[in-house]
Amino acid sequence: MRLFIIIFLLFAFQGASAQKIGQLITPFEKDNNHTATYEEAIAYYQQLADSSPLVRIVKEGLTDSGKPLHTVIISTKPYTSRSEVKADNDKAVLLINNAIHAGEPCGVDASMMLARELATTHKELLKEVVVVIIPFYNIGGVLNRNSHTRANQNGPASYGFRGNARNYDLNRDFIKCDTENARSFAEIFKKWAPDVFVDNHTSNGADYQYTLTLIPTQSDKLASPMADYMDKVLLPDLYAAMKKTNYEMTPYVYARTTPDEGIRAFLDSPRFSSGYAALYNTFSFMPETHMLKPFADRVRSTHTFLHAMLGHINIHKKAIQLARTNGYLEIQTERKLDIDWVLDPSKHDSILFKGYTAEKIPSKVTGGERLYYNHDKPFEKQIPYFKYYKPTQTVDIPKTYILPQSYRHLADLMRIHGVEVEVMTEDKDIDIEQYKIVDFKTGSAPYEGHYLHSGVEVEKYNTQVQYKKGDFMISTNQVAVQYIVHVLEPQAKDSFFAWNYFDSILQQKEHFSAYVFEDRAWELLQNDASLKAAFEKKKMEDEEFAKNSYQQLDFIYHHSPHYEKTHRVYPVGRMMW
Ligand SMILES: [Zn+2]
Repeated sequence: MRLFIIIFLLFAFQGASAQKIGQLITPFEKDNNHTATYEEAIAYYQQLADSSPLVRIVKEGLTDSGKPLHTVIISTKPYTSRSEVKADNDKAVLLINNAIHAGEPCGVDASMMLARELATTHKELLKEVVVVIIPFYNIGGVLNRNSHTRANQNGPASYGFRGNARNYDLNRDFIKCDTENARSFAEIFKKWAPDVFVDNHTSNGADYQYTLTLIPTQSDKLASPMADYMDKVLLPDLYAAMKKTNYEMTPYVYARTTPDEGIRAFLDSPRFSSGYAALYNTFSFMPETHMLKPFADRVRSTHTFLHAMLGHINIHKKAIQLARTNGYLEIQTERKLDIDWVLDPSKHDSILFKGYTAEKIPSKVTGGERLYYNHDKPFEKQIPYFKYYKPTQTVDIPKTYILPQSYRHLADLMRIHGVEVEVMTEDKDIDIEQYKIVDFKTGSAPYEGHYLHSGVEVEKYNTQVQYKKGDFMISTNQVAVQYIVHVLEPQAKDSFFAWNYFDSILQQKEHFSAYVFEDRAWELLQNDASLKAAFEKKKMEDEEFAKNSYQQLDFIYHHSPHYEKTHRVYPVGRMMW
């Protein structure tokens, strides 16, 4: 009898909660200056999932905080991966990421409202799309809640912190992957292989009339079928859709001075979320709401943008997927890839911009001049939009990269990012191209846990290497081709080399004792006429060198068989076609 009552109550409760799903209210909707806490949001999604067959909440990999990431999947069928979606009707997948910067939580609350609507009033938006939401990405930051660290932001009353549990900025960690967050994210990204990716933010910087600004992945980085679709169809459609709402949108206001002198497009290299996603031919975006607008408007504009995006994908799913496929085919056919870019100041578009007049007034604090955006003097005028980047480095894509097994931690990392790595089954001599690192610069202060290298110069030569059973062959004939090239080419802006994964090759391990080497150096000079000539020439041309006996011995050492052959030799081989 007691069991019967319990079962009855259970059914009664489920029935009641199913009926109530449309009335589930988010903490933000109850208080417009409140962003949901971690516990509130997870409980809310759990309630949604308990009440609707269209919503599921899944625990994913761990984060540095010790808590796992969650995904909330909203779809007409209970898909658990992209491969299941593909096998069924190949709907598009939209992945939405929130609170990567936990002090910028607009997406957290916008996504909660969206999820409820998709399960109730807006089921039609699931017709061609599977929506996957990461409720919180930077969980450590979300749990580190306070009311002060966003000094210039207009609400909410309290919010999380930018750094994660180990004080990393997760929006610089997609390639170097110092955090468990980034590794767990890569698994989610691999599982869902999204067509479109949105990573929600709040901006700092200038003042202007718009609540919502947008960073699309910089299109000069994209294969031309994707760049064309982005610039000619997707972006114009999104701007037009937003213009019909209360939240007209502008490109992200990235200005050298004030916006009326022009704004620049942001180059989202692969360390950033959208730059990482673009490596997989995913159309990717970072909406940035304006920090001075009330939190309620920031949440609602983000929510409106997500609706606009879903509206577009539902209509244009086939074109989006075709552009992605053709982008991939173009890269595989051309076998060339740009790996670094610089803004092209010689070209710009012109956009209509709604700003506030920037004035200089005396500062009460410093007595000097301060910048002031005068809200009594709004303006609407054409401003230059510098949105073009030109490549500064282009590489020929090899057929295969070969990674010695001593770097198996990198093979493991690449596998997390969806790379198929083949293990050699026998010893083999292989003709390859190899790089020697000729020059590079290193930052003088720690940046995201590293001393980042830049300005890398290499010398390329052909050689034969005796590879061993167990070494790794990484074919470029796979979906992750752009990721592979960007991490393994040392000159790429966010390569493993740049992020210090190969620093050990930069240090010479053996040296000489000057007083002992003197005799050997003399012998070498007597027996090698060309070395002697080079040595004398150097002494003639370089006054410092001519006075420094250690430098002179070191010169001879470097040109002798004693100098270690592996110093500065980049160990990744390039097997060409
Ligand atoms: Zn941000």
